[in-house]
Amino acid sequence: MNQFKPWDNSEKNDSDAGNWLATEEFTHWRVLSVDDDSDFQDSIQFALMDAEVLGKPIHLERVGSFAEASTLLAKRNDFAVVLVDVVMETEDAGLRLINAVRDILGVTETRFILLTGQPGRAPIDRVMQEYDLSDYCLKSDLMHRGLVNILTGAIRNYHNLMTLAVARKGLQLIIESSSRLQGMRKLQDIAIATLEEIAKLIHVPNEGLVCVKQTKDLSIAANGQSRGPITIGACGRLSGFVNKTVYELPVEPIKEAVLQSIEQRRNISSDEFQVLYFPESASLAEFAVYVETKRQLSDTEKGLLQVFAANASKGFGNVALVSKLDKVAYEDELLHIPNRSALLREIGLYRKLGNARHSQLVLLDLDGFSVLNNLFGSGFGNQVLEAVAKRLLKHFSPYNMVARLQSDVFAIVGSNDDVSVGKVRALFKDNFEIDQSFHHLGACFTEISLSNSSYSPADLVRAGLAALRCAKMMGPNSVFDYSPEVERLAVKRYETLSALENAISHDQLEVHFQPVVSLDTGEIYGAEALIRWPTDEGYIPPDEFIPLAEESSHIHGIGERVTHRVVQALCQLKALKLDHFVVSINLSARQLESANAVETLIEVMQASKVDMRRVALEVTETSVMKSFSKAKTVLSQFREVGGLVSIDDFGTGLSSLAYLFELPADHLKIDRMFVRDLETSQQSRAMAQVIIELARRVGMTVVAEGVETVSQIEWLKAHGCQYAQGWYYAKAMPLDEFVEWSKRFQKSES
Ligand code: C2E
Ligand code: CA
Ligand code: CA
Repeated sequence: MNQFKPWDNSEKNDSDAGNWLATEEFTHWRVLSVDDDSDFQDSIQFALMDAEVLGKPIHLERVGSFAEASTLLAKRNDFAVVLVDVVMETEDAGLRLINAVRDILGVTETRFILLTGQPGRAPIDRVMQEYDLSDYCLKSDLMHRGLVNILTGAIRNYHNLMTLAVARKGLQLIIESSSRLQGMRKLQDIAIATLEEIAKLIHVPNEGLVCVKQTKDLSIAANGQSRGPITIGACGRLSGFVNKTVYELPVEPIKEAVLQSIEQRRNISSDEFQVLYFPESASLAEFAVYVETKRQLSDTEKGLLQVFAANASKGFGNVALVSKLDKVAYEDELLHIPNRSALLREIGLYRKLGNARHSQLVLLDLDGFSVLNNLFGSGFGNQVLEAVAKRLLKHFSPYNMVARLQSDVFAIVGSNDDVSVGKVRALFKDNFEIDQSFHHLGACFTEISLSNSSYSPADLVRAGLAALRCAKMMGPNSVFDYSPEVERLAVKRYETLSALENAISHDQLEVHFQPVVSLDTGEIYGAEALIRWPTDEGYIPPDEFIPLAEESSHIHGIGERVTHRVVQALCQLKALKLDHFVVSINLSARQLESANAVETLIEVMQASKVDMRRVALEVTETSVMKSFSKAKTVLSQFREVGGLVSIDDFGTGLSSLAYLFELPADHLKIDRMFVRDLETSQQSRAMAQVIIELARRVGMTVVAEGVETVSQIEWLKAHGCQYAQGWYYAKAMPLDEFVEWSKRFQKSES
């Protein structure tokens, strides 16, 4: 950025052109007569007494020597014309004076008229050229030619030169100032700088303001209002009116002029002020710059302002562009609040400003959002997010940042006094108005202090998200406080993922089979295929790595392995004449959502001549609800080729039964949570009973999971449950063991 203020070093010598311009409305022309002949001086004074040149009187000053003249001219350089006698102290005193003024003092605009008593003392043309003289005149000719006529020519000449000088000076300023403006990145800075530059350029006190018309890309809300042009910078007595809408301006004529300029898209000029209009084409937004002049501007000044405006508008354009980019990069497209990048930037800023020690980050993740989204459509989901953002923004001041990190995860950062889990959580007590009705929304929360300086902002957010995930795992409405333990878990997660990748690529994952028994006949119905990951420390349970695999693409690798093993198993069972067994495969949400996981599975099975009636897919209620219509299509497809479908973990989700029964399914699996509590909990019994009754009505059969005791079996049988699976019969085991177990079981039953 260009910190250099161009006028700082020009202050001293811009006075000639500048002052002149500022006093263009001055009352007279200053003329200096330099002559040691006082009688002659008197006659000049007399001749000019009532004279007017270009409509203005002449103010004459007189000095009698080279010495006096040079002293005076060194002090003042606003003489339009100097009449110089050639011969004074010396033969060429007049010439030396002109020389000194031009070369040493650098005064170029003042016109000199050389007067001499005798003709032929200096070669006229050479002298005229060398000293840039306006005229050369014999004293004796003066009255005859008319002093006023001679002066008129010189003064006109002077006036033109001054105008040029002002323009030149102004253009220099413009070039310098536009390079200053181009370097700026904030609209507010550039607005203030523009006002300063204009004041400098036309020599008026710095009184003015800059307004911008709102656009979609450039939303600057003033006092929460975003309608109408907004002042983004103001100077002088108007400086209190920054960030206000134009309508709030206290001075009626200013308000009117700015609105008129923006409405009519033009500059406005008056005796009191100027309004420069910057069109959107150059500035990427419409700006109006109001400058108080308290006087009519000259044409030169207006011209200069125009050139200035053309240059400055590019600066505004750059800033607007940057702000637009900023918006794209740092704003959430849906909610128009800061996004993850903006949050990271903000955390960095807290650090830089030394505010991190007493500040923290609160994260929240809405409960059951994906289900809501799928149940009622993404339009409704968006309204949910909007309602949450609105409530957070309403509660937290602009000093705290409310951001959206990802789909339904929000972040609030601020001082410990303002921002805490308790405060954020309290905002969820009241229902949210969504789509004209009121809904309760729950969320999981975590908070993490910004004080840990060994974390980069990205590390911090990552750690926060890891803690949030822990909260999620604890169920709806949970709070999990960040601790280094979370960090340890995150590291472990990473290690587990790499190890899993290794296990998949080395085909180390096994599939075990847990028998499912018919409660009606006491015969084996089939088995559920359950994945097993053997390591040196024993089997890692699928609950520990399936959710991890789900978040990466590993889940597809796992799916392929399981399909492959199940195909092998079905072929082996067929060879053993156990081809009536139904083997079920678990499909996770990601597999269900993926474009062709089920298609591939069907292809592989059909290629191996598998009887599809022997294969069941198990999908959980929650994963189906994540993308209901997709799930419905995929599962129908599977049933069309003869396969069976089970709804797993039934009763644990939040889904609407109406939706579930639209699903093409054959079995409902009662979650083992209800089975476990059958003996102790009236509620679990009621739940199991309802599930069985519902299934019966829609023609599905029920499988009870996690059966461990005889009394559970008896209750389930008595209440019409058809199938059972659990440790009461057997745990999941490798295929060979399962085959052996089946033979033994059959024998013992018969
Ligand atoms: P799930 O589908 O609900 O599987 C049933 C779980 O209950 C299995 O745990 C099983 O070992 C356990 N279980 C069976 N009988 C009893 C019992 O009597 N008492 C108790 N306490 N538990 C019993 P597992 O094998 O640890 O699997 C956990 C979850 O991992 C499964 O839940 C399933 O969601 C997922 N999973 C397992 N294999 C696969 C797979 O091949 N693909 C996918 N996508 N997910 C799988
Ligand atoms: Ca299952
Ligand atoms: Ca289950």
